[in-house]
Amino acid sequence: MATTTMHPNVQSLKICIVGAGMGGLTCALALARAGFNDITVYEMASNLGFVGAGIQMAPNMARILDRLGVWDAIFKDAVVLNETSIRQGSTDAELGHVDLKYIKQTYGYPHTVGHRATLAGELYNGCKGESDKIKFVFGTTCENMKFGPQQPSFTAVPRNSSTPPYEVRCDVLLGADGVKSNTRVAMLRDLKVDEAEVKDTGQAAYRIMLTREQLSSDPELLALIDADKVIRWIGEKRHIIAYPVSSKQIYNISTTQPDVNFAAAPSATYTTKGLKKAMLDVFGDFCPMIHRMLDLVPEGEVCEWKLRVHAPLPTWVDGSAALVGDACHPTLPHMAQGAAQAIEDAAVIAVVLEALPASPKPADINKALKIYETVRKERAETLVELAAASGRALHLGEGKAKEERDKQFAALKEGKGPVPDKWADADVQKMVYGVDCMKIAAFAVEQEFKEPSLGTSSVPT
Ligand SMILES: Cc1cc2nc3c(=O)[nH]c(=O)nc-3n(C[C@H](O)[C@H](O)[C@H](O)COP(=O)(O)OP(=O)(O)OC[C@H]3O[C@@H](n4cnc5c(N)ncnc54)[C@H](O)[C@@H]3O)c2cc1C
Repeated sequence: MATTTMHPNVQSLKICIVGAGMGGLTCALALARAGFNDITVYEMASNLGFVGAGIQMAPNMARILDRLGVWDAIFKDAVVLNETSIRQGSTDAELGHVDLKYIKQTYGYPHTVGHRATLAGELYNGCKGESDKIKFVFGTTCENMKFGPQQPSFTAVPRNSSTPPYEVRCDVLLGADGVKSNTRVAMLRDLKVDEAEVKDTGQAAYRIMLTREQLSSDPELLALIDADKVIRWIGEKRHIIAYPVSSKQIYNISTTQPDVNFAAAPSATYTTKGLKKAMLDVFGDFCPMIHRMLDLVPEGEVCEWKLRVHAPLPTWVDGSAALVGDACHPTLPHMAQGAAQAIEDAAVIAVVLEALPASPKPADINKALKIYETVRKERAETLVELAAASGRALHLGEGKAKEERDKQFAALKEGKGPVPDKWADADVQKMVYGVDCMKIAAFAVEQEFKEPSLGTSSVPT
């Protein structure tokens, strides 16, 4: 990422980012590293306050974080996954096994897992290292976004009622405000296209973290945290995925099950405290080891998340504004690519804006953001669909389709054929991990703006 060739008029563009999630933080860091020096991130929460949960950090995510200079710090307490095992939840019998050791050699980075707080914290630390360029405004909700051919604007509403709301005008507005994005709603309204209704997936997730100490009296559970392995236990309409994080001091467990609680009381709420008995009942027919594992969750600490997505949007860009991450492509978690794709968005936005001509006009910014959309939209939406398809295959009940799926698992044992759990399939991994979206973006802007940026001369992959 060059910082020397950018014209001062480009460097000083006023860029506002709505939301300090993985997408917003990476946008800020990538833009600052590219040389932009007037970046403000608005976050409605009073601090970063990230979910206590693990996250898979695939090579396509790691490659970008490395270029941004934060990967070494994140990698320090990450766990490298060497294998994945897909098992029958009811019996713990192994259905499929995939060796992941080849990934580092093939894609330059291993498949790792870590704690969300570490990932977000190190992105934030990276931003703090650029404090002359990036400003954070916490406890402030952005509303009433306006677009159009000139500068976008919005109303910033501080949570502290003694500070009145104020208008903000900027050269570039990035809506990284998650699945419930105000920016998306306003943008679609402005473009007079149908609001993309948030779709109910009918699925919810428990997210659980057990400490090594909690597992210590159970040798079978200790063996799980000590392995370099991600395990998925599957059953009809449900599964559990689990892996060790934080240098194997924490075992991270994430489930998917039919949504009962949120469906019964639909609201804007996405998380709820659940009853431990309800959680144990959902996995009632899973094997005894899983019961012992779930039983370690203290009563009162069962937290359930609603899983929501929305239909693909007609566009992610309006004038000098663009959507990023879950605001434009929320996904079911079954490909473990939601944050990775938000991070790809952010990296590509920096590449396209970095290539703007001197004294850029709103039309140039719009052109750059349209290139961002072209590079990113189809890929991100393909992965959203793959995640949904993978969930459907994993959650099959008795019947022909399940028989076919289990034949695929059986063939896998002989080393043949596709993996029904799509994220573990080598061909899918090639498409996800083997594509360098920053190079593709650099090539695309080079064609548009005729200014070489990453030095590519033929269409990269
Ligand atoms: C169970 C589960 C497991 C997952 N596992 C993985 C995984 O292993 N790997 C992976 O890559 N991804 C995973 N994901 C997906 C990933 O968590 C999300 O895709 C990612 O966090 C989205 O980041 P974001 O920045 O786009 O949105 P968010 O993280 O939702 O951030 C949006 C931010 O904007 C703020 N905000 C919202 N509205 C406003 C406003 N109007 N004004 C100001 N601020 C606002 C919010 O407070 C929030 O901080 C998983 C998701 C789930 C649910």
